[in-house]
Amino acid sequence: MAIRKIINYGHPYLRVKSQKVEKIDDEIRKLIEDMIETMIDAEGIGLAAPQVAQTISLLVINTDHIEEGAEPEAFINPVIYDDEGESSMEEGCLSIPDIREDVKRPETIKIKYTDIDGLEHDEQMSGMLARVMQHEVDHLNGVLFIDKISPMKRRLLSKKLKNIASGSN
Ligand SMILES: [Zn+2]
Repeated sequence: MAIRKIINYGHPYLRVKSQKVEKIDDEIRKLIEDMIETMIDAEGIGLAAPQVAQTISLLVINTDHIEEGAEPEAFINPVIYDDEGESSMEEGCLSIPDIREDVKRPETIKIKYTDIDGLEHDEQMSGMLARVMQHEVDHLNGVLFIDKISPMKRRLLSKKLKNIASGSN
């Protein structure tokens, strides 16, 4: 396993729509291992492949933060196809260091994904897991949590964001 470099806000790969994973081969399995190690090292709850400069539809979640003792999990080609309710929660992002803001999102989601063994799943998620999942799936579509805060709040953050984008945060 190896720790990969996490790219920051301002990097063009964070704005790209990810490609579907066609085949779960050794390269994908290695990337998943590396992403899990990178996420744990950075003390993150989730990490999407574009954050390590791989624009493919893959993310990992450190479910240990959600349910104690659970193993980190990989979600391949995840698609959220339904949602319900609304909740507000403070979010941060490993690619946008030192910024945390309240973000409104649906409370419950329905999602289809493939696991590391190639098995397909169709699940309902709510609470913290649904929250992290929506943040990470957004990454696969080139969307960041700061896109979802009010324009006024974003204006207040513009200097900080500019510093992150220029690598001087
Ligand atoms: Zn993020």
